[in-house]
Amino acid sequence: MIYFNNVTKKYCNDVALEDINISITQGEFVAIVGHSGAGKTTLTKLILAEEYPTDGSVFFQSTDIHKLSSRDLTQFRRKIGVVFQDFRLLPNRTAYENIAFAMEAIGKQNREIKEDVPHVLELVDLTSKASHFPHQLSGGEKQRLAIARAIITQPEIIIADEPTGNLDPINTSDVVNLLKKINDLGTTVIITTHNRNVVDQIKKRVITLEKGRIVRDDKDGKYML
Ligand code: ADP
Repeated sequence: MIYFNNVTKKYCNDVALEDINISITQGEFVAIVGHSGAGKTTLTKLILAEEYPTDGSVFFQSTDIHKLSSRDLTQFRRKIGVVFQDFRLLPNRTAYENIAFAMEAIGKQNREIKEDVPHVLELVDLTSKASHFPHQLSGGEKQRLAIARAIITQPEIIIADEPTGNLDPINTSDVVNLLKKINDLGTTVIITTHNRNVVDQIKKRVITLEKGRIVRDDKDGKYML
């Protein structure tokens, strides 16, 4: 589904990723792990075409992501739901409205919004918080809401960049379980983390980066740094 083909990314002359070869298949759950500065975020930005490789190519199926026209890139990005460490919710909108907004943005009709938002709120266990604003939610609830917003458009892939970075262990565990549940429902999930407990809880494929290079790629891996 996603292929990195001999990808190197340099910022000026600093190498962020070097000669990366990865193949991620549909339905996989992949954890990208490594210390700060290892290149995890750069890798996710390359998939979203927010950054361009210095060398090599990144493919989605048979399409070179970085050769897409801007219109096709917009279409391509709709296949991906993104979750950030700092949630990036709209502060002046309720939980319900935050999710509805993501649907409005891609032109969904009111009827669909009214039908789908309650389902997704239920999936992330936030039905009782539908009318709360982000500042009235705990960190874990905010992240579950951000995940709800990411999946409401039924993307093929979820990319979660350090989604548990701001959470305590209990909320971390809830968020990891939710991502696993979404993966079980068929969505490919790519998560970056430097949290050993997260990786040990996921028990799925682990790709370990060290100074921009892949040093391990383990099916059902453990955190080995
Ligand atoms: P991680 O997500 O694992 O912490 P990053 O992908 O953010 O790592 O960074 C990898 C390397 O690339 C680091 O050395 C970082 O300083 C560098 N880097 C990341 N983004 C930029 C940028 N926009 N400009 C220059 N250097 C960058």
